[in-house]
Amino acid sequence: MFTLLLPLLSIPAAWAASDDYHWAYSGENGETSWPTKYGFCGGVHQSPLDFHHSILQYDSTLYPIRLQGYNVSTTDYFTLSNNGHTVSMSLLPTMSIEIPPFTYIASSLHFHWGNLAHPKGSEHCIGGKRFAAEVHVVHYNSKYADVATAMNAADGLAVLGILLEVGSFHSSYDGILTRLVNVKYKGQNALIPGFNLQTLLPTRLDEFYRYEGSLTTPPCNPSVLWTVFRNPVFISLEQLQSLETALYCTDGNSTVTEEMINNYRQLQNKGDRIVSVSFREGVVLAVALASVLGVVVITGVTCYLCNRKRRGKKNEKKMVVYKAAMVAEENTSKV
Ligand SMILES: [Zn+2]
Repeated sequence: MFTLLLPLLSIPAAWAASDDYHWAYSGENGETSWPTKYGFCGGVHQSPLDFHHSILQYDSTLYPIRLQGYNVSTTDYFTLSNNGHTVSMSLLPTMSIEIPPFTYIASSLHFHWGNLAHPKGSEHCIGGKRFAAEVHVVHYNSKYADVATAMNAADGLAVLGILLEVGSFHSSYDGILTRLVNVKYKGQNALIPGFNLQTLLPTRLDEFYRYEGSLTTPPCNPSVLWTVFRNPVFISLEQLQSLETALYCTDGNSTVTEEMINNYRQLQNKGDRIVSVSFREGVVLAVALASVLGVVVITGVTCYLCNRKRRGKKNEKKMVVYKAAMVAEENTSKV
């Protein structure tokens, strides 16, 4: 999730691999090899996770994410770039989010996806379900000087995770996706005029999963406060396929080309962690609804049976009265 930053920043020696190692998602430099070069990748509190109901806990103190400066003027520009691992878009330092008690300044956003034949490439999963793709919007804690400093602190980063699913055409994502042709090869850049970045997020900013995790790419620092929105954002099949087919991990001069596909990390152990949820979990809600429905049905049947019994007795009584009247009538006729 942090791949944009590495080429753009001067990398302190401690982060850099000691030799010519270039991490990847498959092959000999695939993720099982990451810990040999980047210790954090084999450590604790790693991401991504599957949000399974057994690790979720409702937390009523989680407030909706507050966005600031996300509506960017068309006179400002973002830089879209291919860094050999993903496509990233630089963001403006005037953009930030509030997650009390801190303010986090926006740094960049990037994508993770699968491939045409298996279009399931989100990093986080919900109840075992992997989504089509995932966007990460990276922010750093404003108490640190920059993102490079912040990533070494436990409370340094806050990332918003947006799950993408196939549905209707999305015009805001199209502003990014139609420019992928300009960054096909590693090292290429393109400019995107400002727009309202809130339109990239789901409408419900109050429904999310929150936990403490890590960067999902080397160096895998466990410094991320994750907020993954519950509701996916829909893009069209054509838009997803443009993401899955447009890019290469290799540069334009390379004799061999390597498609940029399946750039998502496998699920990590939750360890001793609990994932907080800002909404009542679906299963609990379903059980509650079923219980309520059960009570309503039982009450209904009981009332029906009681009424039926009461009606029966009433009819019996009516018959007795009728008979009595008959007798009285008979008696009168006799008078
Ligand atoms: Zn990411």
